[in-house]
Amino acid sequence: MHYYIGVDLGGTKIRVALAGVGDQIVAARSFPTGAGRGAAAVLQALQGGINELLAGAGCSRHAVAGIGVCAAGFYDREEDIMVHSPNLPGWDGLPLRRELEELFGLPVIVENDASAAAYGEYRHGAGRGQENLLLLTLGTGIGGGLVLGGKLYGGSRGFAGEIGHIPMLPDGPRCGCGRSGCLEALASGTAIALEGRKLLAAGTSSLLREKKGDAADLGAADVFEAARRGDGAAGRIIEQASFFLGRALAIAANILNPGIIILSGGMAASGDQLFEAVRRHFYASVSPPIAAGLEIAAAQLGADSGILGILALLREYLSTQ
Ligand SMILES: [Zn+2]
Repeated sequence: MHYYIGVDLGGTKIRVALAGVGDQIVAARSFPTGAGRGAAAVLQALQGGINELLAGAGCSRHAVAGIGVCAAGFYDREEDIMVHSPNLPGWDGLPLRRELEELFGLPVIVENDASAAAYGEYRHGAGRGQENLLLLTLGTGIGGGLVLGGKLYGGSRGFAGEIGHIPMLPDGPRCGCGRSGCLEALASGTAIALEGRKLLAAGTSSLLREKKGDAADLGAADVFEAARRGDGAAGRIIEQASFFLGRALAIAANILNPGIIILSGGMAASGDQLFEAVRRHFYASVSPPIAAGLEIAAAQLGADSGILGILALLREYLSTQ
């Protein structure tokens, strides 16, 4: 038994990877999730994808020691059920781990995707050498993961680190979680794109108007690009999102006193533009002794941080069995 399988189960695509000892990925493939077809069809697609992965790598299933899955959503570690996943409709209450163990006849672990990404960066990326870190995934939503004292911290049921749902603004925009004014509803890629579209609908003069096609296609990347080119209205959208991000991180840092804060995900790829503004607002509000020596850094593992994290967690889990 010398191989491990890591799965990143996203709302739009699934990535599966085969790794040897030391978490080196030897083969990987991605395919559409087809989340709209329901859980049974997705699990069938996952089974097919893993079979193809093994066949392509010339690896027998008997050489695989276990499967680690990271997925977006509230996964209850105590009950081993998916309590709620906004990207996987119809999965609420699904005993994902048991279903997968029955399907594959192998030991399986399941973890929240941002938590797995935090552990991946801790073991192999920007968080190496830090025992206490906080990672934020900035994309269509905002996820968070915590490594405290060198261990992944899940809280009492595995839900810890939901920084995206810190309530930042009374009577703010509605959030996918059912509350209002959450960080995610104010500063995610989805929220930034929505502000851009509102700006167009209000008739404000902006470089965003140059964008061809439907206003509904306008994405956060378009707002970032317009801001980079000096568009004032787009710049104010980025500035406001960065303000809420910086303050939410200051709240979290005051509680946790991390050694590093890592930003990952599609929005973090905007680089200096976002980091400069988030750092400015963060250091203006965080408690000064906590700010000393605390760095806000970019993730280093790209799209593989979740898979590398779940592989490391899987090997550790199997070594205790
Ligand atoms: Zn929320």
